[in-house]
Amino acid sequence: MKNLQEHRLLRELYHYKALGYSYFSDIKKPVIAIEQELDLPDSLEALELMCQQCSLCDLSKSRKNVVFGEGNPDAEIMFIGEGPGAVEDETGRPFIGKSGELLTKIIETTLEMKREDVYIANIVKCRPPLNRVPSKEEAQKCLPFLIKQIELVKPKIIITLGATSYQYLSGDYESAISKIRGEMIQFSRALLMPTFHPSFLLRNPSAKKYVFMDMKKVKAML
Ligand code: SF4
Repeated sequence: MKNLQEHRLLRELYHYKALGYSYFSDIKKPVIAIEQELDLPDSLEALELMCQQCSLCDLSKSRKNVVFGEGNPDAEIMFIGEGPGAVEDETGRPFIGKSGELLTKIIETTLEMKREDVYIANIVKCRPPLNRVPSKEEAQKCLPFLIKQIELVKPKIIITLGATSYQYLSGDYESAISKIRGEMIQFSRALLMPTFHPSFLLRNPSAKKYVFMDMKKVKAML
């Protein structure tokens, strides 16, 4: 059975390669999440409940709401950001502020999908104070929840938004986001594509064209 699945996966990869896409063979280093063993439930609802009560890292002390993630539980595409900001902390929903508006626009205009059709989550589920980058330790504590979410949603393509999200999920701290964006990388049973974070695009509108190119590539692969 395993051989058959691997064969299908390989065939799919050759197909995409023939279409002109470039690939990195696989994530080179294990994601840091694997270092932590938690007994996690096999449903998104139960997992969310667990996260709501989580105090595994210090971010639990300053959060107003846990931002678990939302969207289609059977989504083909999963977006992963860095962590909740102020508006997300207030509402308990991911990508709701200005960055979220832009992400929604990107989903609607380039993927021609509704926001509800995709799944959106973050590396850490609680807001880092003053919107600082989550520490490696915080990401390490929180990533098992995200990995389980990925396992349950089973997306075909995971799109990491920004350098932090890509680095913590992939374990690749060496590739610059400007170089690696738009590449398709095998990530367990999904493909992972890093691209720029919407907040970066708000500060650098000229970079939007690269994200649009990346999304066109994603759309062609669905
Ligand atoms: S960020 Fe993650 S690990 Fe830390 S308290 Fe929140 S849910 Fe728990």
